[in-house]
Amino acid sequence: MELSTPYSGGNVDPTPVPRKPASPRADGKRPLIGLSKDQLRAALVEIGIPEKQARMRMQQVWHWLYHRGATEVAGFANISKEMRELLDRHFFVGRPEVVTAQVSSDGTRKWLLRFDDGEEAECVFIPDAYRGTLCVSSQVGCTLNCRFCHTGTMKLVRNLTPAEIVGQVMLARDALGEWPGEGKALAALPDDDEDDDDIPMTLKGRPGSNYTSEGRMLTNIVMMGMGEPLYNFDNVRDALAIVMDGEGLGLSKRRITLSTSGVVPMMARAGAEIGVNLAVSLHAVSKDIRDEIVPINKKYGIDELLAACAAYPGANNARRITFEYVMLKDKNDSDADARELVRLIRHYRLPAKVNLIPFNPWPGSIYECSSDERIRAFSDIVFKAGISAPVRTPRGRDIMAACGQLKSASEKISRADLDRRAAEKEASWG
Ligand code: SAH
Ligand code: SF4
Repeated sequence: MELSTPYSGGNVDPTPVPRKPASPRADGKRPLIGLSKDQLRAALVEIGIPEKQARMRMQQVWHWLYHRGATEVAGFANISKEMRELLDRHFFVGRPEVVTAQVSSDGTRKWLLRFDDGEEAECVFIPDAYRGTLCVSSQVGCTLNCRFCHTGTMKLVRNLTPAEIVGQVMLARDALGEWPGEGKALAALPDDDEDDDDIPMTLKGRPGSNYTSEGRMLTNIVMMGMGEPLYNFDNVRDALAIVMDGEGLGLSKRRITLSTSGVVPMMARAGAEIGVNLAVSLHAVSKDIRDEIVPINKKYGIDELLAACAAYPGANNARRITFEYVMLKDKNDSDADARELVRLIRHYRLPAKVNLIPFNPWPGSIYECSSDERIRAFSDIVFKAGISAPVRTPRGRDIMAACGQLKSASEKISRADLDRRAAEKEASWG
């Protein structure tokens, strides 16, 4: 049967890099995960469920998927056998296949996931004292070629579908054993307070146990895995809608952060249609250096980017924009750079916090990380200007799970190919 909403790889971004669509499964079944309530209701009607029943069935299915963590249609216990058989003929629940699961000495976990067409992406869980953060991928690879980022060296790129994005969160919950039993629900989480120091003692984690007093492990999501989320806008928006829905995975928008390298034209829409916290990969304060290390800067410059940040809905002092700044030795780490960063943030009156990320090397990377003293001096200048500038401890380095190291091992691209790709992209930007 032809279904109205095809299983597709999402929109194609405006770059000349070849994109591969997500391919349907050989048996023609569709994933239940990732369908919005309306899409699922329509799909149920299409397989012959009467209109009058469809809403109720949709709610039952969502309950089994997102509140109970059922991994197959056969597990939808309060749905009749005939109805389960009908569902099973057309749908599957859908979890990405786990190729490898690694645990770092610091507790960070990384999963290499394989999707139905064989493409792979990574997903990382980072536990700390007060929260457990899942770093989710939005694409296989990335069409942008930031020069310090391992993901940018992947040859193949495709957008992940809503099912594949939500699937990462479901898989992490499976692995963490975080589905409630029958008749139970996961306790609601209070809104997140960005700064650990602001967290009331009652919510602080008990050493060696769970991360919140409610016993939740996975409390936050960052769209900071592989890919540029604003180049896969529709699918990221639709996936996060399910993550944020109380009848879905039920995480508050204040516990979700989307990181962009600066796709300026999509930022206002991200604010209006997704509404989560914004992080921006700034990494440099002058045109020369940002052009070199974050090439999308040649298309959307620093001023345009910061103006878009100033206009981002919901940004205020309680909900600041995070500027990510990777510390590269002798590239972007001088005192003058720190002072210019402060000037820019003040000039655009941005409610901002700066995350200083020590550069994580990967095989073949051409930069070095700044020294600890340099990072501290940089942080002090920003901090003394009244802007929070924590240095992020790299997590999961021993399993190549740290920021910017994600890349499935199968695809390699040479530096020459990368430079050629960057040149083609710039030519297309005119
Ligand atoms: N494409 C989006 C989100 C994924 S990248 C973006 O660029 O914002 C997540 C973060 O990791 C970004 O801030 C990115 O700049 C940073 N990063 C990439 N490579 C890194 C590396 N080798 N060391 C440290 N941080 C890195
Ligand atoms: Fe893509 Fe972000 Fe890596 Fe740049 S830093 S190549 S935008 S994933």
